[in-house]
Amino acid sequence: MQVYLDNNATTRIDDAVVDAMLPFLSERYGNPSSMHTFGGQVATDIYHARTQIAKLINADPDEIIFTGSGTEGNNTAIRSALEAYPGKRHVVTTMVEHPSVKGMGDYLEKNGYRVTRIPVDSTGNLNLEMLENSLTPDTAIVSIMWANNETGVLFPIPEIARLCASRNILFHTDAVQATGKIPIDMRDVPADYLSMSAHKIHGPKGIGVLFVRKNTPFHPLMIGGHQEHGRRAGTENAASIIGFGKAAELSAAHLAAGDAEMAALRDHLQDSLTTAIPNAFVNGLAADRLPNTLSISFEFIEGEAILLMLNEFQIQASSGSACTSGSLEPSHVLRAMGVPYTAAHGTIRFSLSRFTTRSEIDKIIEILPGIVKQLRAMSPYWSDAN
Ligand code: PLP
Repeated sequence: MQVYLDNNATTRIDDAVVDAMLPFLSERYGNPSSMHTFGGQVATDIYHARTQIAKLINADPDEIIFTGSGTEGNNTAIRSALEAYPGKRHVVTTMVEHPSVKGMGDYLEKNGYRVTRIPVDSTGNLNLEMLENSLTPDTAIVSIMWANNETGVLFPIPEIARLCASRNILFHTDAVQATGKIPIDMRDVPADYLSMSAHKIHGPKGIGVLFVRKNTPFHPLMIGGHQEHGRRAGTENAASIIGFGKAAELSAAHLAAGDAEMAALRDHLQDSLTTAIPNAFVNGLAADRLPNTLSISFEFIEGEAILLMLNEFQIQASSGSACTSGSLEPSHVLRAMGVPYTAAHGTIRFSLSRFTTRSEIDKIIEILPGIVKQLRAMSPYWSDAN
């Protein structure tokens, strides 16, 4: 039995999504910009997908711009704000963003901008006082993720959006991990930009959306054709857009039905592992978290070794380290939370989806304690500590 618990990396595409896409990969190949009905019908279907996605976050279909990924949405939003206010040279973000925002911050800093990265505490929560104090008339944009991809910790985005709105500062949120997992209502949250990605919600890879609120300044990243009302040039990826629309509709229905089952499975995994395994800690336990994510550290062993052994049992998860230039550094998220190196190195992220079953979870609970025990028996740090 394959046990797939790496859904924050990507999800299995829903069969209904594939069915919706297939005609657009074969007989319905018309260009939506064409004058003829054959292409024009595809434009109508794309508009339908736009309404399905708008509905998931209670936005207007005109506020939805299709992009090539969540990464593109994040890049576009930040660059757009900087172009809107060329005189403003300050950007605010956090210490725990996804590389698509973190990397943009690093790039901007090298190019003469001032970047403030708000820290988090050991629970993963953001220092809101520091955020408020960092805002100045020179701040062009604040970009803060809604849900953290590694720990699942949720930031208080409605509150942050209201704070930025009250100061007349543009606000972008990377909601790639939040959409489809928690309710989002853009009529309630005054964010200017919000990024999403289809492959995190059982849609296809390589298609994203940037929500841009009506009357918010916007400058496209892609220049060329008139597609997306001149906001994102390039012939539309019709099949993927249709797939994203279907995936959004299914996610909305799933959310409306309540996510109690997935959260209960995550909690069952969390409680069983922390009970069965000594020196095991849950990252972000005291914070509000996504219902599908469990980041758990096993002291004195290597996460990569755990992953390789889990892989032998066809269990897929991911670790909390990033292999940079040959050295295994714990992730910037865990470092920002002050997780000790001895624990950060042994961190595993399990991320569930609506397809996760109780028997998958039980297989991990059966196998992982033995793996940790075996690795610790070989670890000099464990024997020193005990
Ligand atoms: N933002 C977050 C929080 C993510 O988890 C990811 C994907 O891992 C992205 C952005 C990037 O999305 P995409 O893979 O569509 O570029």
